[in-house]
Amino acid sequence: MTCRASLFAAAAALLCLAASPAQESQALRDVRVLSADDMQGRAVGAPGSAKARTYLLERMRQVGLRPVGGAFEHPFRIESRGRAVAGVNLLGLIPGTSDTERVMVLSAHYDHLGVRGGQTYNGADDNASGVAAVLAIAEAFRERPPEHTVLVALWDGEEAGLAGAKAFVTAPPIPMSRIALNMNLDMVGRGDKGELYVAGARHYPMLKPHLDAVAAEADVALKQGHDGPPWKGSDDWTFGSDHGAFHAAGVPFAYFGVEDHPDYHGPGDDFHKLPKDFYLRSVATLVKAARRFDANLGGIARAARRG
Ligand SMILES: [Zn+2]
Repeated sequence: MTCRASLFAAAAALLCLAASPAQESQALRDVRVLSADDMQGRAVGAPGSAKARTYLLERMRQVGLRPVGGAFEHPFRIESRGRAVAGVNLLGLIPGTSDTERVMVLSAHYDHLGVRGGQTYNGADDNASGVAAVLAIAEAFRERPPEHTVLVALWDGEEAGLAGAKAFVTAPPIPMSRIALNMNLDMVGRGDKGELYVAGARHYPMLKPHLDAVAAEADVALKQGHDGPPWKGSDDWTFGSDHGAFHAAGVPFAYFGVEDHPDYHGPGDDFHKLPKDFYLRSVATLVKAARRFDANLGGIARAARRG
């Protein structure tokens, strides 16, 4: 939650004191629940995925999201590990207060690798951390609504090749031309060096001043990069997560994530290894970034059309 000075500064400060810790502990709770053993690693099409969805649908209702096209659940079919499975994206809307036409897609994938070789891949950082951060941002927007409409997307099937985001872009529930930005979160918790990266400005330079401004008031070391040279191979994250589907469709993206850690895509990506203090500062930074993008979405869209 962003706490601004205003005529009601005293009341706002009290609100901030009251609201922030509650949100933050809720974010940790969401990560803990989603990455618990009984979610079985949330593999696309598996029972653990359905269990995660039940929890997430309840949380989406709690933070006041509205269904998209009459539903929160948007199924699609994919091939995963050699068989046809059903994936389900979860989509919810936060209407803007002044410009409901232009949309920011705020996203994170909730699926992970499931159970393999008898081991459960809980995916606390990848990507329960991003899903919980998206919900924390949605909660902040419920307290002070965004100017532009925000479409919250919790993707399924990311680990099967960005399947959920690709399904969305292939058959978007709103015209793609209305989407000015995809703010995507994937692995925002295990900043073992105290660093969070944001990728995107190399492809979409109009984002840079906004990312610089967010970095200046960030609660973590927010660095820009991993979006082209000098980053190479798997260190170039341009298509590394669901934002890649939006980039391929010409939609600007800002992707937030930490660098790989020893438990990346391993069975040890567990809740107890998440540095709690860093994660909460990461969430606070992401709330600020979302506010900044919302306040400047018109300019970002105009610059994208010129570009
Ligand atoms: Zn991921």
